[in-house]
Amino acid sequence: MIPVNEPLLTGNEKKYLAECIDTGWISSEGPFVRQFEQGIAARVSRRHGIAVSNGSVALEAAVAALGIGEGDEVIIPTFTIISCAAAVVRAGAMPVLIDSDPITWNIDAEKLKIKLKDEIDRKGNKKIKAIMVVHIYGLPVDMEPILELAEKYRLLIIEDAAEMLGQTYKGQPCGSYGDISTMSFYPNKHVTTGEGGMILTDSDALAEKCRSLRNLCFLAKKRFVHEELGWNFRMTNLQAAVGIAQMEQLDVFVIKKRKMGQKYTELLSDIKSIDLPVQKTDYAENIYWVYGIVLKDEIPFDAEEAMKRLGEKGIGTRPFFWPMHEQPVFKKMGFFKGESHPVAERISRRGFYIPSGLALTDNQINEVSRALHEVLA
Ligand SMILES: *Cc1c(COP(=O)(O)O)cnc(C)c1O
Repeated sequence: MIPVNEPLLTGNEKKYLAECIDTGWISSEGPFVRQFEQGIAARVSRRHGIAVSNGSVALEAAVAALGIGEGDEVIIPTFTIISCAAAVVRAGAMPVLIDSDPITWNIDAEKLKIKLKDEIDRKGNKKIKAIMVVHIYGLPVDMEPILELAEKYRLLIIEDAAEMLGQTYKGQPCGSYGDISTMSFYPNKHVTTGEGGMILTDSDALAEKCRSLRNLCFLAKKRFVHEELGWNFRMTNLQAAVGIAQMEQLDVFVIKKRKMGQKYTELLSDIKSIDLPVQKTDYAENIYWVYGIVLKDEIPFDAEEAMKRLGEKGIGTRPFFWPMHEQPVFKKMGFFKGESHPVAERISRRGFYIPSGLALTDNQINEVSRALHEVLA
């Protein structure tokens, strides 16, 4: 079986972990946490990094730190991971969904523009406070039109860069855009800590707020007196140790990912019945966080069937995200009634991704390509 993801842990991970154990520093108080925060922040040109336990809670803390709550609305793409919508909903706010671009799979800036015009200019909606920008699968969102809209309507920007560490938009690092950015270090991300995440910002006040929220809002002077409710979202020194070793290899990882993507594209471009990821635009070169495929209409079955057939040939796959407006949990809450976002609906049914991890070998890529040719012949 070729797994859909296998991380590479062949650097100093063991050495730094041994250091934690030898020194006894295993909790979030250990020195690697700060070092990892500074390393990531420097890499994405941010002043502050706040390490947390995963990318989902990074979003939750980011939303809370921006003061988004009851009665507010936040723009998110409907085609994303549940974490984005969950962070908004748990804050007591409401997600406002935008469809995807059919080629890049990222939020459709034109549809966003129309939505904001309709809601804010025409209906006078004053509830929309922020846009959560989510870079999907390896090609960043075209940020300029989004930043212009955010400025025009005075909206905050939360950048979910979980899939984009090491990527740039017009030469500027992903993770450096907007008021606050978040990362994940789950094992399928470019840098892993097993579980882990980070909040990134240039604002001293937001950074302080996030540090407090992450640590139960303990007061510096009166430790067990709390003026606000926080969470325990702390990252351990053990996790940060792995993260620092991983960061030493990020540049190598990025090259490896791009090579993997280019090889897949070379091998698969003769299959005319599938759409492949966009290789390059004028703002970025794909980093292939995962290598996604969308079945064109001429294929008589959907992604689920293709994945089943590939599984029978020993190829691991994962489906694309399932749109937020079609999530049973939100239907039960009465959200998004009657909404339709046709691009997201289509790619969620016709799309899936193939093995894309950092440990993937050239031979495995060849094998995946062979299996895909057979299944889609
Ligand atoms: C992975 C991911 C997350 C969640 O990160 P976890 O660490 O798994 O909680 C959030 N947003 C995006 C876009 C992701 O890819």
